[in-house]
Amino acid sequence: SNIVAIVGRPNVGKSTLFNRLVQRRDAITDSVAGVTRDRHYGRVDWVGREFSIIDTGGYVDGSDDIFEGEIRRQVRLAIDEANLILFVVDVETGMTDFDKEIADILRRYKKPMILVANKVDNPQRFAEAADFYRLGMGEPYGISSINGSGTGELLDKVVELLPPDQDLGEEEELPKLAIVGRPNVGKSSLVNAMFEEDRNIVTEISGTTRDTVNTRFTKFGMDFLLLDTAGVRKKTKVHEDLEFYSVMRSVRTIENADVCMLVLDATLGIESQDLAIFNLIQKNRKGVVILVNKWDLINKDTNTMRDFEALVRKRCAPFVDIPIFFTSALTRQRVLKAVEEAMEVYKRRITKISTSKLNDTIVPILKDNPPPMTKGKEIKIKFATMLPTHAPTFAFYANLPQYIKEPYKRFVENQMRKLYDLSGVPIQIFFRKK
Ligand code: GDP
Repeated sequence: SNIVAIVGRPNVGKSTLFNRLVQRRDAITDSVAGVTRDRHYGRVDWVGREFSIIDTGGYVDGSDDIFEGEIRRQVRLAIDEANLILFVVDVETGMTDFDKEIADILRRYKKPMILVANKVDNPQRFAEAADFYRLGMGEPYGISSINGSGTGELLDKVVELLPPDQDLGEEEELPKLAIVGRPNVGKSSLVNAMFEEDRNIVTEISGTTRDTVNTRFTKFGMDFLLLDTAGVRKKTKVHEDLEFYSVMRSVRTIENADVCMLVLDATLGIESQDLAIFNLIQKNRKGVVILVNKWDLINKDTNTMRDFEALVRKRCAPFVDIPIFFTSALTRQRVLKAVEEAMEVYKRRITKISTSKLNDTIVPILKDNPPPMTKGKEIKIKFATMLPTHAPTFAFYANLPQYIKEPYKRFVENQMRKLYDLSGVPIQIFFRKK
């Protein structure tokens, strides 16, 4: 899947543009139970083409006084990881030296880029937008992120310049696993631990983008593709502490995967960078298994594992129904168990629950425990069905779906997790008019 990155100096309107572009789609994805709204990463669907969009500025606090050096690094990372760059400038302030500097960096690469002149809120400003020709980046697209003018044409241009979506060829049908996590948690050591036992069961398949290598793994009756093993091994010391870095580096892999193995470092616990990646997995509704790695380094007493597990579940709440393994890439403890479980998550995620089963099992529970009465009216859930989407999605039909609120949706999800085997599988629930 393609990634579009928005870059530019602070206050040119990057996040307003981001919100404008993801708007329609987000209204839907945000209804996923428990998914916190992500202000920097979203999916866009325009004339049948889907792509991801990332606002690089969104990952920096207090973006007014952000160091220029930091922006330069973000621009480079965006160039490395994205398929297309939207370089945003501001007609209100006009061209600045820093704009020129960013343009100098961008012009050195062959990435598709679009120069976006923002804040063209009225027609007179088009003349001012034309001034940005001087950046040597082609025709500036005059838009107003505030009122939306020009954004449709911009999206047309984005779709035109994006490379075609590619699939993995004959390997496309295999279960696709990904090892994700922030730097130094032990991802590449885990890949080595998985493969070193028996090198000849591994086939490396070069991926569709530069430097991606997917590895086909056949073992213990499992046949799957481990995505982007080259990316996992790739070492970049640039700004590894940034959430933006983690997201930018893992987004493509997560989007392509069916199940993600999220690796944490047992010596560090679970922090905001880990959660940023966890949110990406959830937002894309991919299966997930958590590996608490470097477990060999922990001094343990009888409660250590239980306490650690409780902490992880608390941070992942409300999506707590996730398999967790305490692994060591060094001793290989539980590494293969975690992979086997990832395969089980894969199977659970593609298992269809029939309409008759839903109506015999979950629906009666909801009839006995209806949503609270609203405006003097009784709310009744009549029947349920699983929608034919790639990630498990359930529609519940009711007389007054608009009155059903988040807590009840949580209740429904919890009941479903008790009834069906959904560990590690994010699900989506909709209430619809009967
Ligand atoms: P990556 O950036 O996530 O791929 O992390 P690496 O695999 O490069 O590991 C980072 C460091 O942690 C290296 O020095 C590894 O040797 C070390 N390491 C990785 N996994 C383990 C583990 O399970 N136990 C111990 N003790 N060290 C580990």
